Amino acid sequence: MAYRITPQVYEKIKHFARFPQTGVSLRQMVMFGQNPSQGTLLRASQFLADELPIRIAHRVKELDNLPHNLGEMPSIVRVKNWYAQSFEDLVNFPKPELPQSIKERLFVNSNNSANKLPDNVPNPSATSITTAAKPSVPIGHRYYSNVDGIEWPPEVRYYNEKFTKMIEAIKRRHDPVVTTVAQGINEYKKHKESDVIDIDIQAFLDRFYMSRIGIRILIGQHVALNRSPSRSDYVGIICTKTNIAQTVQEAADNARFICEEYYGLFRAPEISLHCPNDLTFTYVPTHLSHMLFELLKNSLRALVELFGDDVDEYPPIKVIVAEGKEDITIKISDEGGGIPRRNIPLVWTYMYTTAETQTLDPNFSQSDFKAPMAGFGYGLPISRLYARYFGGDLKLISMEGFGTDVYLHLNRISNSDEPLH
Ligand code: ADP
Ligand code: MG
Repeated sequence: MAYRITPQVYEKIKHFARFPQTGVSLRQMVMFGQNPSQGTLLRASQFLADELPIRIAHRVKELDNLPHNLGEMPSIVRVKNWYAQSFEDLVNFPKPELPQSIKERLFVNSNNSANKLPDNVPNPSATSITTAAKPSVPIGHRYYSNVDGIEWPPEVRYYNEKFTKMIEAIKRRHDPVVTTVAQGINEYKKHKESDVIDIDIQAFLDRFYMSRIGIRILIGQHVALNRSPSRSDYVGIICTKTNIAQTVQEAADNARFICEEYYGLFRAPEISLHCPNDLTFTYVPTHLSHMLFELLKNSLRALVELFGDDVDEYPPIKVIVAEGKEDITIKISDEGGGIPRRNIPLVWTYMYTTAETQTLDPNFSQSDFKAPMAGFGYGLPISRLYARYFGGDLKLISMEGFGTDVYLHLNRISNSDEPLH
């Protein structure tokens, strides 16, 4: 039976939506997640048990206040119901039953002031929220230091396992969100008989998908830490030695494979790579692969469409990697004819594509990282969100009549604040 939000849950969601979200930087995640004990994982569970309902409540509220009548479109209502259902799963999840001595050890570590609870941490479950101001110390801090050398009772492991399973199920439930929202936008366009996406809807999508990335990173990280606490060079989903040359090479192979599948054998232009082989940095490799894959597919497509499929050779795509103190920049240059300047703002909008539009089928996009050659119009805007998420950026400069340069800037300090709205 389809899930429906009850008025009681609605009230609770509104209540939680009044609390500020707490950002977590890449660096914090790395520091926190090294060789986590069951106690560390429990603290992380408890942070998520507080933070995820707040973030989700913000999203439901936003879906309620969408401009025009976008929020009434059937697919958008479906998405809202998934968020509300996940909210319920989280707030109804029983708190761990632990001996008092363990509870005390969880939060008190006398030598470390970062472990002290700030007095005014907002606690949505408490009765009065009027007094809860934005905390001067981020709520996450109390979980971001290790207290160890402690035997953790089996209840702790049991709770951690249950909690991990629950949030994993939430992540799965939300797999089809991007395609379903896109469907909602289509319903809206049909409804108002126009193809134009208003600027406020574009801004909403940016915020909404950005928030989704954040939630999925938090869940993905937690699940990875619980499943495999010590994988070499990895802290959860973060790799402290993400090798750029290798990641580009893999993305290039994948993109060329898709290109040949689509345009035919030997119809994939060459990709040349200029990058020190040993250049590594701390990043989420799946994000980097995803961005490179999308950008390379765009360049491949531009070349094949410009030169046609009866040339012997295409001008190769050049990938140039520069290593700065603060940034690593990856430039992808193609001679695929570029984009008219008039269309540049459009390439950053969702669902803008010059390819034949792909039909939206949520059943075929079980993961975030599966994509057709082109035609969804999400490649560039979503890649830019990924880049910005950890303090980087994505820029595109075109020379119409010649080709396109795309600059992917990545922040190597990795302590930028999480972008939260
Ligand atoms: P899609 O690839 O599904 O069309 P994208 O967001 O990846 O969606 O790209 C949007 C549009 O931007 C493309 O359809 C294409 O018109 C244009 N574009 C992107 N990259 C390039 C490029 N390297 N050269 C020429 N046009 C490009
Ligand atoms: Mg694309």
